[in-house]
Amino acid sequence: MEANGSSRCNGNGNGYYAAGATAAGELAPHVAMLVTPGMGHLIPLAELAKRLASRHGLTSTLLTFASTASATQRAFLASLPPAVASRALPPVDLSDLPAGSAIETRMSEECARSVPALTAVLADLRRTTRLVAFVADLFGADAFDAARAAGVRRRCLFFPTNLHVLTLMLHLPDLDVAQPGEFRDLPEPLRLPGCVPVPGPDVLMPLQDKSDPCYRWMVHHGAKYRDADAVLVNSFDAVEPGPAAVLRRPEPGRPAVFPVGPLIQSVHSKGGGAAECLEWLDRQPARSVVFVSFGSGGALPSEEMRELALGLEQSGQRFLWVVRSPSDGGAVNDNYYDAESKRDPFAYLPDGFVDRTRGVGMLVPSWAPQIRVLAHAATGGFLTHCGWNSVLESLAHGVPMVAWPLYAEQRQNAVMLAEGVGAAVRVPEAKGRAKIAAAVREVMEGVGRGAEVRRKVAELQKAAADGLRDGGNAAAALAEVVGTWMRGEDQGDE
Ligand code: UDP
Repeated sequence: MEANGSSRCNGNGNGYYAAGATAAGELAPHVAMLVTPGMGHLIPLAELAKRLASRHGLTSTLLTFASTASATQRAFLASLPPAVASRALPPVDLSDLPAGSAIETRMSEECARSVPALTAVLADLRRTTRLVAFVADLFGADAFDAARAAGVRRRCLFFPTNLHVLTLMLHLPDLDVAQPGEFRDLPEPLRLPGCVPVPGPDVLMPLQDKSDPCYRWMVHHGAKYRDADAVLVNSFDAVEPGPAAVLRRPEPGRPAVFPVGPLIQSVHSKGGGAAECLEWLDRQPARSVVFVSFGSGGALPSEEMRELALGLEQSGQRFLWVVRSPSDGGAVNDNYYDAESKRDPFAYLPDGFVDRTRGVGMLVPSWAPQIRVLAHAATGGFLTHCGWNSVLESLAHGVPMVAWPLYAEQRQNAVMLAEGVGAAVRVPEAKGRAKIAAAVREVMEGVGRGAEVRRKVAELQKAAADGLRDGGNAAAALAEVVGTWMRGEDQGDE
């Protein structure tokens, strides 16, 4: 088992203490966090751990699965402060799963099969640290069994996506009974308490084929979430006021829900091309560049990649595009476990495109320092796959979005952003170059819906920052949860 981060050393002067220690040399309260695969899950949990350390003096251990030991992940874990340690769980055999099993199935199976090893790790952490709570993320609810078996007092769910998706997951066991057909065939949009109505085909992708084992897993997780003492959600009230109002009200049989976001990465992730693209941005006028990226794993089919290239060219806007090899012959989330493109992504661009857009466009293979790009004064828009971390990062930096969802909950997020709060313009389906160019221009030039989107995003940026300040909604929600962990320790309740 790999371990990163020593267990008892002094604070490093940044308000952080190494896993296990306080300034007085006493054991600090400690939290174990299980990270299901994907940088999009790891990054916000690591931010939660950092915030628990800097604001509340808690130390943490991030528990990762063997399947995710990519170079990107290792570099990220190594960059965390000493208060945030990590351990990789031993590998589990998944060779019996059919080829082509959904990613959510693989993650859920890996978690369920890791319960015995996790029980041993948690028992060990109880011996060596002052363990006050266990936190699992969205595909890890089976791990509550390990926490219970190891005698960990508090079990929380960390939901790295939003309150709309949480509402759906919590209702899923009932919807499963009440609504036997496929979501995509629903005659009317799906209406859930407080939520923006979602057309059937835009509902969470892993729910779209009820004959796939992945669907059953999701129903299972939705039921299992009710085992948590509390749910911490990486969202904030202003971006989804409807479900925030509903979920903030206590409800018998449902854990208390705490919006604690936006928790976004504060250090830039390392990767090829970082310095080069930032230097390029330094030479561009303020708010003149649209950043184009599909998250840590997303890739387009080659035909859409071609239309996107021609659409960007036609928009006449400057662009910085993280280019991945196309997803032909595989899934749009083909790169999920490893963000590096396997083939030369530039080989798939239209003939002459690179020459024609030289000076206007900057292409980066596979990975860019997204957080620094979004924070850069030259960035004026973000064409995004609507992965929730990307959305939060965009809002936190006041960057209006063009929505181009691919998989997971991204289509739902696009509905909520474009039809609900109004923070994005969505590229209409059958994505051709003209529609792409029009959506990009609306956001970048503030024409059509673009003006209102830009105004709304500025408002949300302020609300997000206010919530995280002392006394803000999100800060108060996290303090309340930490308070229950500490009280649980005083009372010794199991
Ligand atoms: N990211 C990055 N550079 C890239 C692509 C992604 O730094 O080139 C980061 C991005 O800032 C975000 C995370 O990876 O924090 C992606 O998470 P998101 O939820 O947006 O999408 P997912 O990767 O889970 O689909």
